[in-house]
Parts: sequence; structure tokens; C-alpha cells
Amino acid sequence: MDFEKSKDRYLSVLTNFGCHYSCPYCIVKNCGIGIPKTTVEGLQGLQAAIEKYDCNWVSISGGGDPFYKLEEHIDWWNEFFDITTEPSLGLKLELHTSYLSDTYDDDATPFWPFNRVVYHCHNVSDLFRIKRYGGQIVRAVYVVTEDFTEEKINDIAAIVKHHPMIDELSFRQMVNSNYETTHYCEEYLKAGHQKDWWYIDQCDYNIYYAENEVKFKYEEYKNKVADKE
Ligand code: SF4
Repeated sequence: MDFEKSKDRYLSVLTNFGCHYSCPYCIVKNCGIGIPKTTVEGLQGLQAAIEKYDCNWVSISGGGDPFYKLEEHIDWWNEFFDITTEPSLGLKLELHTSYLSDTYDDDATPFWPFNRVVYHCHNVSDLFRIKRYGGQIVRAVYVVTEDFTEEKINDIAAIVKHHPMIDELSFRQMVNSNYETTHYCEEYLKAGHQKDWWYIDQCDYNIYYAENEVKFKYEEYKNKVADKE
């Protein structure tokens, strides 16, 4: 597995278009995270933030799945791509989504501009619902919940190893309803880090952008009021 080596700098754009709220480990639902409702006007400060923090990646995730009700937010996506694909910025784009290939319309879903798509999976079988578009990097990520076992982790790793459309695999711990990080299968996952998968320590520090504001801790969105659908 070809693990990335460079020191990249990410701006994490948090969207809130609403969500299906069906992931069992959902930090937004369980911890009262309130990302402000996403608007086209909220992109006005994006380029300045990218330049100020000298970012070479823009990663979209959320306060809700970024592709939730995509057809209602095409204006936002068009504006987002206008800004982030400007050649002088030299950016790479990453998307986090829980929508797997059988849940969207291929032709209407803008996967193409992304250099990496990170698919959030729950079950082993979800791996067979992942597709690659063009030459992008495809990563499968699992948030480790109580039901995970070494056997399940090995099954996932074995499938990814021979999967023609998945390049990378990562596991990360969940944050429980007390905003505490859990430690399921932690020693086993650490032992396999950079061998068969990435094990990502839960780390709250990042450069977050939402609606023209930058924050450096996800927890700062805790107990904020947000519009939820
Ligand atoms: S996609 Fe994100 S916000 Fe939506 S249910 Fe899953 S974890 Fe929660």
C-alpha cells in the first residue's frame, strides 16, 4: 500500500446542508455539534482563508454529508469549484462522503474534480459499493465502533488489498456522547498502522472553515445551534 509521505496542509471546509443522520457514531447528532447552515455567501472568505493559512488541500466534510440533497445546492458547488479549481491556487481537493455508488446518480454527482474521495463505510460489504471516478485516489474509512473485532478488521483489510478501486484504508476512533474518544481495538489497529492501513488518532486540531469563519478546534462548534433537516 502506497502511503502518502509529504507534509500537506489542509483547509477543512465544513458543510451543513442537512443529513440523513444514520451513521451510528455520528458526532454531529450525538454531541450537539452545530455547523452553521451552508450558503453561497459563506464562500466569500474561502480564497482568503486558503491563502492566509497556505493550504494546498481543501477537504470537504461536514456537519452533515456534503452531498445531502445535492440537487438543491448546485449553486454552492458551482461557486465552490470556481474558487478552488482556480489554477493559480494549485489546490488539491478531497471529499468525505457516506454516499456509496448505489445511492447516487453517477452523471449528476460531481466526483470528478476531487483528487481524493474518502468513503465512510459501516459494514464489510460497503467496500463492494465503492467506485473510482477518473484517476482520483479512493480511500475507505471506518469509524471503529463497539462491534469491531480483529477478525472484522482483517476481513476489511484483505478485501481492500485486492480491491481494484480502493487505494487506501483507514480506521479512526469515535467520539462518544460525552465528547470522549473511545479506544476500541486500539492496540491492534496501532500495530497495523502504515502496514495494512492507516490508524488515525482522534485529533481535534485542524484548520476548519465554515461560513466565512475559521476555527481550529471542532469542539468549538459544540452546543452551537444549527439548522438540521
Ligand atoms: S454523514 Fe456525518 S453528519 Fe451525517 S450521519 Fe454520518 S457522521 Fe453524521
